[in-house]
Amino acid sequence: MTTLNEWDKKHFIHPTSSIQEQQANGPKVIFDKGEGIYLTSKDGTRYIDAMSSLWNVNIGHGRKEIAEAAKDQMEQLAYSSCFSNFSNEPAIRLAKKIADLAPPSLNAVFFTSGGSESNDSAIKIVRHYWRIQGQPERNKIVALRRGYHGVSAGATSATGIPEFWDMAGSLMQGFIHAKSPYEIGTESSIQSIREVIEAEGPEKIAAFMAEPVQGAGGVLIPPKDYYKEVRKICNEYGILYIADEVITGFGRTGKMFGVENYGVEPDVLSFAKGVTSGYFPLGGVIVSDHVHNVLKEKSEGVLFHGFTYSGHPTGAAVALRNLEILERENLVDNSSKMGGELQKGFKSIKGESTIVGDIRTLGLLGAMEFVQDPLTNKRFPAELKVAPRIIAALHERGVICRAVTYDNTDIVCFSPPLIITKTQIDDLIAILREAVLSVQQEVE
Ligand code: PLP
Repeated sequence: MTTLNEWDKKHFIHPTSSIQEQQANGPKVIFDKGEGIYLTSKDGTRYIDAMSSLWNVNIGHGRKEIAEAAKDQMEQLAYSSCFSNFSNEPAIRLAKKIADLAPPSLNAVFFTSGGSESNDSAIKIVRHYWRIQGQPERNKIVALRRGYHGVSAGATSATGIPEFWDMAGSLMQGFIHAKSPYEIGTESSIQSIREVIEAEGPEKIAAFMAEPVQGAGGVLIPPKDYYKEVRKICNEYGILYIADEVITGFGRTGKMFGVENYGVEPDVLSFAKGVTSGYFPLGGVIVSDHVHNVLKEKSEGVLFHGFTYSGHPTGAAVALRNLEILERENLVDNSSKMGGELQKGFKSIKGESTIVGDIRTLGLLGAMEFVQDPLTNKRFPAELKVAPRIIAALHERGVICRAVTYDNTDIVCFSPPLIITKTQIDDLIAILREAVLSVQQEVE
């Protein structure tokens, strides 16, 4: 363990982590095993993985079937290229499967290795869509504040959380952020989108891009009518609508795709995470028949966009088995049912605590906000670090969750595996109650 700790500090730069904290304390936990909703560390401590790691391990950890699917495919054909119209059977079958699961108008899939690549691909595809129709000046992307779309160049630029922009200082051109419904409510957010479009000039906007539910921004769930209004504005100005379903896709919100909760269909949908439940790095973009038809008619010569691992046969075999499990075990339905149980648990804790503000769930995406005064929603001073304290109190008690503290908010996010049972939700809620009440004593 000491050796691993030292090697970690010396040789491993962690993603989205504090380098100074790592140098002071070493790695937080070295995980060793995963089974169901649980992760076990090398020193034998068991944790409830209440985030499905990074919102992605939807079918739970340690599924042997997936390992077998990967092994079989690797023995048959581990990898071959999909450039220059080469193809492979798992990739073809996966494209067909995803088209079958997606909203009816979305039927053609471009594969990537993860969410950021999917969003950069979506951005480049919509820009290409306008270029081949003789409107190259239509290249701007309108996104939402507090949205998170990943860390590659386009995805960072689309992200609406300034902390991510500051890291390297330069962003792609042509991204504008409207205010989110979380900040100002549906009507004003729609008005903000309209103002941004009018100010830039509608003939310069390629697409509007947003997550059905803003995940990393703090599980911010827009009201029911929000995306119908977004869709209307996009239609009115002839702008494409990109739904970033990297978290919400494949059952997370109690529906197969997040947009189904809002009764809308986007023109382009990006996905990753849940498509393989994290067993293989794979993502993609699904485009509507309309967009596909324009590409088929007007995209001449080579489409100069492709990743080495676009259409990876082993990744596709893993995704196919993962989706088979999702359907066979009715996990989308379980996400909806257990989401209801999570909501009940949150409510009961809110009833006993003086520091719980807004609580929200959609399927198995959930959040609890902590405030000094739930009646006025007055926030705690940032230096009290209430959400990080809750995370630490949960960690001590064997639960892994995530805190969101942008704009002086104190939000704790939940995204447990879709296989979670009622008993396991009860365990999670019991530990959460203890953690909340203990932190409450410290900060009251
Ligand atoms: N989009 C959303 C909504 C996400 O939550 C994430 C990751 O958390 C991404 C995109 C980026 O995905 P990746 O980390 O696989 O690049």
